[in-house]
Amino acid sequence: MTVTDAHIHVQPFHMMPAAVAATFWKGKPNRAELENYAADPRALLAKMDADGIARVGLINYVSPDVMGFTDEANPWMIRFASIEPSRLIAFGSVNPRFTNDVAGATERVIEAGAKALKVHPPHQLFRANAYQDSLPRLADLYRVAEDAGIPVTIHTGTSVFPGARSRFGDPMDVDDVAVDFPKLTILLAHGGRPLWMDAAFFLVRRHPNVLLEVSGIPPAKLLEYFPRLEEIADKTIWGTDWPSPGVKSMRANVDAFLGLSLSAEAKRRILHDNAAKLWQ
Ligand SMILES: [Zn+2]
Repeated sequence: MTVTDAHIHVQPFHMMPAAVAATFWKGKPNRAELENYAADPRALLAKMDADGIARVGLINYVSPDVMGFTDEANPWMIRFASIEPSRLIAFGSVNPRFTNDVAGATERVIEAGAKALKVHPPHQLFRANAYQDSLPRLADLYRVAEDAGIPVTIHTGTSVFPGARSRFGDPMDVDDVAVDFPKLTILLAHGGRPLWMDAAFFLVRRHPNVLLEVSGIPPAKLLEYFPRLEEIADKTIWGTDWPSPGVKSMRANVDAFLGLSLSAEAKRRILHDNAAKLWQ
C-alpha cells in the first residue's frame, strides 16, 4: 500500500536552544542518525524506502522565542525538500507575531515551494482564531492559503516543550477558522490529544473543510481515542509525528495501524487516498 505520512519532524534541529534540544533529544539514542537525516535529504529518502513510505510531510514552523526556529527555517525546508519534491512535502510557516506583512510573507513561502502551512498555537503563542482580537493579521495567512488552495495543518492538543502554552491547543478555536475561511482545507494535527478528542471529532463532522490528522496518537490507541473513526475515514489523514517520543519508526506505526479493526477501504483512504487529494 502506498503511504503518505503527513507529519514528521526532520527540521533545522541546530536552531533549537539548549533547553528545547534537551527535551527534543531526551530518550533518543539515535540522535546522530536523526541529525544525519536533517543534514542529508537523500538519507531520509533511503529511510523512507526502507520503511515503505512514499511521501512525507515535513513539519516546519517559525517559533523563534519558544523553539528557536527563525524565519530561516522556511528556506532551509524548501531547499531540503527540493531534492525530491514529489516525495518530500515542504511545510512553510509565517508567525504573525514577528511579521507585519503576513500576506506577503505567506505568498512568498508558497511561491518558493511550500505545499502546506503549519500553525502551532502552543509554540507560536497565539490562538488559532486570534485574528478576531489580538492578532488581526493572522487572517491574512489563512486567506492567502485559502486562495492558493494550500492546506493548513494546525497543532491541536498539549505540548511539553519548555515555554509552550497548552491552553492554545484547544481545537475549538479552529471552529472560527473553519467558519471564516470555508474553502481553506484545515488539518487538525493530533486530534486534540490527549484532552480534546471529542472537540476534534465534532469539528471534523461539522465542517466540510476540516480533516483529522492522526499523528502523535499511538496507533494501538487510535480507536480508543476515536471510536467512530470508520465514519470519518474519508476525512482522516495519516501521520506519525516521527521521531517524537514513543514513535519508533514510520513503518512500525503503519504496521500497528493495519492491525486495527477498520475496513480495508478505510485504511487505504487514511494511509493514501485522502492525502493524494491534497497533494497530487
Ligand atoms: Zn508534530
